[in-house]
Order: sequence, then structure tokens, then C-alpha cells
Amino acid sequence: MQNNLQLSLVIPLFNEEESLPELFSWIKKVCTRESISFEVIFVDDGSKDKSWEVVSSLAEEHTEVRGIRFRRNYGKSAALNEGFAIAEGDVVITMDADLQDSPEEIPDLIKMIVEDGYDLVSGWKKKRYDPLSKTIPTKLFNAATRKMSGIYLHDFNCGLKAYKNDVVKSIEVYGEMHRYIPVLSKRAGFTKIGEKVVQHQARKYGTSKFGFERFLNGFLDLLTITFVSKFGKRPMHFFGLIGSLMFLLGSLVTVWMGIQKLYYVFYVKESARLITDQPIFYVALTLAIIGVQFFLAGFLGELVSRNAPDRNVYLYRETIRAEEKP
Ligand code: UDP
Ligand code: MG
Repeated sequence: MQNNLQLSLVIPLFNEEESLPELFSWIKKVCTRESISFEVIFVDDGSKDKSWEVVSSLAEEHTEVRGIRFRRNYGKSAALNEGFAIAEGDVVITMDADLQDSPEEIPDLIKMIVEDGYDLVSGWKKKRYDPLSKTIPTKLFNAATRKMSGIYLHDFNCGLKAYKNDVVKSIEVYGEMHRYIPVLSKRAGFTKIGEKVVQHQARKYGTSKFGFERFLNGFLDLLTITFVSKFGKRPMHFFGLIGSLMFLLGSLVTVWMGIQKLYYVFYVKESARLITDQPIFYVALTLAIIGVQFFLAGFLGELVSRNAPDRNVYLYRETIRAEEKP
């Protein structure tokens, strides 16, 4: 690899055989024109078409091309994560493989990172060329993410983003978390986050891989990272506290009712109503039992998260790097 590599492009792809040659020559044209030293890391997320053959033949021809191939489809986040792990450029730019993002944005993005000192610059597809069924949920999603994260970006999910290399080496992206990379970065201490309006094209080949169910998964991930940024690996501090409070309240009410019953029996000496006749007894008892369940959920959560490995492990089929070939 070249010394002082300026740029690593990380490109996740899943069944994008038609777009790749065109995308690579466009990137190469821009980087050559602007004298930017670069590498392109194609991460094949278990494609079933000829994408890997295309990546391999690009790597045969061009020293700038590297490739990672997953054994199966792990999702865009996993693909980005593994690309990030090997990216050597000072600036790392992610871009979708489907030609919806324009390589013409590369020089300005680099400038914002290198000269203006941003840790992360997120593309904003102000004019989108996607169907309404995509743009409406996206609007809701962006509003929710802004509220929950306190990061005021218009378009969290844009695939075109630029980072300082340090940023991508400090975060782990998994599940549907690629939508929340700015949130992960902020949590890792990289707070200078900017936004740039970028061009967006309609998909030229193939079809979108993201449907509504991935938005739902994304929403659950947002809850998880919001939780994680508050409680880290200490779920017990959340569930344990709620559980203890419920248990305490439930037990106090039950005990109080028991005392009342004894008072009637021993002092008033008239046959009191059975405590089990009173509905409030069942409410209190249920509360106490649910409290114990919450506490145990927190305890188990804590055990699991403390023993969980920090890195997700993906199975690679192969990786290629031009220089390593005979
Ligand atoms: N992608 C991926 N793994 C997946 C789904 C998508 O690597 O499981 C890639 C896809 O090939 C593309 C990018 O992620 O390069 C964005 O996907 P897509 O264009 O389908 O999303 P959209 O633009 O419709 O949001
Ligand atoms: Mg797309």
C-alpha cells in the first residue's frame, strides 16, 4: 500500500454486479483528476450474482482495489464494519455501490475533514430519487433519531459519509446500526459532526435491498444504543432499580394489609374480611412478582453483556488485495 494514503473508500455491496465497473471508473476518474491517492475496499456481503467475480477482476487490473467477501449476507452494517477495520487512508468515505451516490462529492468531503476539521461529515440527500414508501418512513426515522440523539442531521441514513480514520477505528457497527454511525461516533467522543448536501441519483440497476421491516429493526437498534449510551454494559442498573422499586412497593402494600388483618383479629376481635378478598392484594402481589422478574432480567442481562466478546465475528470466504497476488 502507498504511504500516506489519503483516502479509503468503503463500499458495501449485495448483488450489485452491473454497477461496479462503472462505479470504480468514475471514482478513479475523480481521484486521478484531483490527485488523490486512494484505495477502494469492496465488501461483498454474500452476493448471489457475479459481484465477486467483478470485484476480483477489478482487483486484477487495478492496484487500488481490495476486496472482502462474506460467506453469507450479514447486512450493510457488518460490511461497513469489516471495511473500516482494514481501511488505511487518512480519510474514510463510505458510498453505496448502486451509483445512487456520486463520486463527484469526494473532493469536497475530504476538504471538510482535512481542512475544516470535521470528525464526520454526513451526506444529506436533499433531493431524493426514491419512492414515497421510502421517503416518508425516512422522515419519521430522522425526526426520532434527532430527538433521541441530540444530533441535528437531516439525513442519518445517507450511505455517503466521510470520517477521520480514527473515528471508524473507534466504533463497532452491527445489526442495523449503520443508520446510527453519527450517534456511535458522538458516543466515542467524536463530536464535530457536519453535514453536506449531496447529489442523489435514482437506482440505475437492480433493486433496493431495504424494506419497511429493516426500519423496524433499525428502531429497535436505536432503543438499544440509547440504552447502551446511558447504561453501558450495566443493564442491572436500569432493570434492577425498577425491579427493586416494584418489589418494594408490592411487598409494602402486602405487609401493610397483613398488619391490618392481624390488628382486626387480635384487637377488634371481630372476624375481618379475608385479605384475599381485596383486589388491591392481588395488584400488590403481582407488582412484587413482576419486580422480581425485572430484577432477574437485569441480572441476566448484566451477566451476558459482561461476558460478551467486544467484536462481532463474521465469516469471510476470502479477501483479496492486489499486491498479494503472485
Ligand atoms: N447492501 C449490503 N448488504 C445488504 C443490503 C444492502 O451491503 O444486506 C448494500 C447495497 O448493495 C448498497 C447499499 O448497501 O450498496 C445500500 O443498499 P440499497 O441501495 O439497497 O439501499 P437504499 O439506497 O435503497 O436505501
Ligand atoms: Mg441505493
